[in-house]
Amino acid sequence: MQKTVLTIAGSDPTGGAGIQADLKTMTALGVYGAAVITCITVQNSRGVSRVEPLHPVLVGEQIEAVLADHLVSHVKIGMVGTAAIARVIARKLTDFKGEVVYDPVLTATTGQQLTMASDLEAVRAELLPVTTVLTPNLPELERLTAMTTGGPAEVQSKVSFLFAKSGRLRAVLVKGGHGDSSTMITDTLYCTSARGVTKEHLSHAFLQTMNSHGTGCTLASALAACLAQGCDYSSAFRQAVFFVQMLLRQSLPERIVNNPKGKGGLLHHLACPPAR
Ligand code: PLP
Repeated sequence: MQKTVLTIAGSDPTGGAGIQADLKTMTALGVYGAAVITCITVQNSRGVSRVEPLHPVLVGEQIEAVLADHLVSHVKIGMVGTAAIARVIARKLTDFKGEVVYDPVLTATTGQQLTMASDLEAVRAELLPVTTVLTPNLPELERLTAMTTGGPAEVQSKVSFLFAKSGRLRAVLVKGGHGDSSTMITDTLYCTSARGVTKEHLSHAFLQTMNSHGTGCTLASALAACLAQGCDYSSAFRQAVFFVQMLLRQSLPERIVNNPKGKGGLLHHLACPPAR
């Protein structure tokens, strides 16, 4: 039976981020993607004008429907929206035995809050216990640990704090896009095992592009897709970062939105050979 990778995330009607980016990524990387929607957003490159969380029961029913019918081996969680939705997701995944990659999306590319500050503590408390792989950027890591991030030593201690608190957590991919350098980005994968915590860095050029909306969603989905295809954490990390870098480069000369100051989404289809 074919394996399914399930994304649980918000909808972005422009197709750049959220559930739409997740499904495109999974398809481009050759895995079957299923999708449970948590929130409908109304947004484009000018901003997010509305966020409508679905009823938590409806989110739970969608998850049940997919899990009942498909061999779901990997779950990717993105925008959750509210504490009540986080609670229902955590409940439905309590007995799930596969990997759960959680991208703790807090704000949109255009800056708007996607999870209410008042709900953050509950989202953290509910979802971290079911997460096996976490993919925060530096501000998200700060907010998840409620500690400010200084140098690399502090990043490592925050990650260790998360490993100590979250029994299922095996890997944390800290995205370096909000770091100090404007020319290079260093992403770091921390893994924990009985032998302790290991870390692996990947440095790559910071690509100035008009198509960077949804890169976080794409990276986390690519990680889930590579894990579903049997990669270990280290090689899934390298392949996922490479995939996003490749898409950023391929999307570089293209415009997808008519707003001269707006960021469009990645052009995932450029990674797929045309079907004939
Ligand atoms: N999920 C949804 C529904 C969004 O609208 C956004 C950003 O606007 C994100 C996730 C996060 O996007 P990114 O991958 O750019 O961090």
